[in-house]
Amino acid sequence: MNGGELCDYESLKAAGCICISDDGKPVENAELMRQALEMTKENGLLAASHCEDLNIINGGIMNKGEISEKLGVKGMDRASEDYITAREMILAESVDARIHICHVSTEGSTAMIRFAKSRGVKVTCETAPHYFMLTDKLLEKRDADYRMNPPLRTDRDVRAIIDGIKDGTIDCIITDHAPHAPEEKADFETAPNGVVGLETSLAAALTALYHTGEVSLNKIVELMCVNPRRILGLEIPEIKAGKTADLVIADIDRKWTVEPERLHSKSHNSVFKGMTFTGKPLVTISKGIVRYNII
Ligand SMILES: [Zn+2]
Repeated sequence: MNGGELCDYESLKAAGCICISDDGKPVENAELMRQALEMTKENGLLAASHCEDLNIINGGIMNKGEISEKLGVKGMDRASEDYITAREMILAESVDARIHICHVSTEGSTAMIRFAKSRGVKVTCETAPHYFMLTDKLLEKRDADYRMNPPLRTDRDVRAIIDGIKDGTIDCIITDHAPHAPEEKADFETAPNGVVGLETSLAAALTALYHTGEVSLNKIVELMCVNPRRILGLEIPEIKAGKTADLVIADIDRKWTVEPERLHSKSHNSVFKGMTFTGKPLVTISKGIVRYNII
């Protein structure tokens, strides 16, 4: 993850690897990234990129804008994300390789991905529930549980992300699940970035996208189940007699409030704490085994 040299992609592929990433960090050297894309293409791998220019970030801890100025803390300029998103797509086009853009949070990145897709660039991307539900206004609480990377942006970005989901620019909803102990998150300015999201992702998507009439239930299944597996080249499970069950049973109308201490994760750094959702998973069956059941 130092971005200094390429791995042996051929051996990784032979060992069963399907996707490579330095997620958490960008590959700072553009030529090395170009070479990585050449090698992933040659070996049938997918490269996934955390789009962030560290020189532009320069120690920023939240979205750069009105709120960061008000709080007197260093902001992360959206140019940091947009610049590397553009770079990755330019490099992918240059070598005709696939690129997957991780956790899209800005209006600019969404627009550029839409444009690149329309031109036939082999780009796919994802966003997380906090990017289509929440804004940097929450940071006014000076609570590090609302800090992640990329950071919560603005109303305009939230709208752009939802529009990107609706028109197919954004392929997947993921969690970017990042647990941290309460003592790590104690100080607003020095705490590490990241939020937990596994146990709230479906409920958040149902609440913000389905119950608001933005997208259909089938579209949510596509965003959360089908497209991630398709992008990674994994088999897509069918709900059919004789097949092994790999599914979630949810009550799409059940209302519940997120109480972090009741989450199953050992970490409680949920960005949705105190929020009421409509929709709740009741049973999770993985590879035919019931892993979770609250019926
Ligand atoms: Zn990342």
